[in-house]
Amino acid sequence: MNDCIFCKIAKKEIPSHTVYEDKNVYAFLDINPLTKGHTLVIPKKHIVDIFEMSEEDASKIFSVIPKISKILEENLNMIGLNIINNNKPPYQDILHYHLHLIPRYEDDKLIIEGENKNFTQDQLTQLAIKFKEKKL
Ligand code: AMP
Ligand code: ZN
Repeated sequence: MNDCIFCKIAKKEIPSHTVYEDKNVYAFLDINPLTKGHTLVIPKKHIVDIFEMSEEDASKIFSVIPKISKILEENLNMIGLNIINNNKPPYQDILHYHLHLIPRYEDDKLIIEGENKNFTQDQLTQLAIKFKEKKL
């Protein structure tokens, strides 16, 4: 994609700070990090979101996530790691697939919160039946 900022970053047309790179995947530091070492992992190929991703492309990106996680763990005094992926606006700002790897520290002030919803066992069963019927 011509005007995609992450395609340009993958092609080194826009500068970034490399964490990891191979033939298919590029990982670089988020320009506006939530914590120290906040990393974005992208496919070099332009893929918009998870719904557009083939199993083959998924295996290329997801198979290197443990390796990149260990690079962060070995080089930072982090106590944990959140892996987040926003898909579709308004959650996803940049429409080139990216995984956020966010190292966690004590008192890092990052709060990921929500409200647990109450579903009955029967409602969960109905949902699971629906998924089973629509299995791809
Ligand atoms: P999302 O809301 O999941 O699409 O997140 C997009 C992320 O890309 C944000 O965390 C931004 O800080 C980050 N970002 C935007 N432009 C750049 C850039 N040029 N280099 C590194 N990170 C960027
Ligand atoms: Zn792109």
